[in-house]
Amino acid sequence: REISTKESNVAKIKVVVRKRPLNKKEISRKEDDIVTVHNNAFLTVHEPKLKVDLTAYVEKHEFCFDAVLDEHVTNDEVYRETVEPIIPTIFQRTKATCFAYGQTGSGKTYTMKPLPLRAVEDIVRLLHQPYYHNQNLKLWLSYFEIYGGKLFDLLCDRRKLCMREDGKQQVCIVGLQEFEVSDVQIVKDFIEKGNAARSTGSTGANEESSRSHAILQLAIKKHKEVVDTRRQKDGNESKGGKVIGKISFIDLAGSERGADTTDNDRQTRIEGAEINKSLLALKECIRALDNDQIHIPFRGSKLTEVLRDSFVGNSKTVMISCISPNAGSCEHTINTLRYADRVK
Ligand code: ADP
Ligand code: MG
Repeated sequence: REISTKESNVAKIKVVVRKRPLNKKEISRKEDDIVTVHNNAFLTVHEPKLKVDLTAYVEKHEFCFDAVLDEHVTNDEVYRETVEPIIPTIFQRTKATCFAYGQTGSGKTYTMKPLPLRAVEDIVRLLHQPYYHNQNLKLWLSYFEIYGGKLFDLLCDRRKLCMREDGKQQVCIVGLQEFEVSDVQIVKDFIEKGNAARSTGSTGANEESSRSHAILQLAIKKHKEVVDTRRQKDGNESKGGKVIGKISFIDLAGSERGADTTDNDRQTRIEGAEINKSLLALKECIRALDNDQIHIPFRGSKLTEVLRDSFVGNSKTVMISCISPNAGSCEHTINTLRYADRVK
């Protein structure tokens, strides 16, 4: 398949909704599927409700988005709909971001996991094309987590990181390890390693990882000379290169976690407040971007501060909102769709 090296006419912000299928547990509980995808842009949610006199009725909620993907859509099709069109733009000084938003269990990780691999495949193919071949461009990968407002390097033993702004308002994450990647298998290994390092407290993996934002970045850098491999021993020689463009894949904390602000456990409350703050700040930043506002309120949270350079200049944003179809998730599903609707 040919990928164009020219920047295509890709929307600045794209909001996509993905519905997952009912899982075995939901089917065995005979839960209703309350989400109906009518076409590639329109869906309805049938909310079961009770009147005061306890008669049951259904309230219908209608939503339109740039794209709506039903439970039959494959990860490959998700890639083609969301990330593929953006890839050529990151060779043209664009900072792109792809978010997965939604409640825990709605399919964020399932959706996000294969996307960087497919992206690397396409990027590497472009790097080999004659047009880019002799420009000394290299692809660098980093993977970190924001947990409780703090940054941890997922590819370097969860080393704690801090963020600094240079004079040119560029964000720099001090100590973040970047690794040059040139083939998909290496990227696969890095992602496995990073995923294994994600927050896993005593309460189990999914429970804890649902409280953190995982950020995987692929940066294309232009190097003045051929990188001396001996100087790469820390995987940290990338400083010599100038960032041409990059794409960030962000598996956001479970959206329901933002509501953990009244929990009995103090730590849970603090984390819930931080998640709530970051998801609200993210929404405000994307809206500001969409309205071409000069002032982007990225200081609202650690998440948006870290992504600061992705909210200025040439930027592309894809928001993939993941929803669960079962009646028991109705409230969270409607909240997710309303969030996506406001971002749009
Ligand atoms: P989240 O990251 O939002 O908490 P996961 O991605 O872990 O959710 O998904 C929860 C479960 O549902 C996983 O077992 C996953 O394999 C499954 N799942 C999610 N989306 C789909 C889908 N589109 N098709 C099939 N299974 C899915
Ligand atoms: Mg997950």
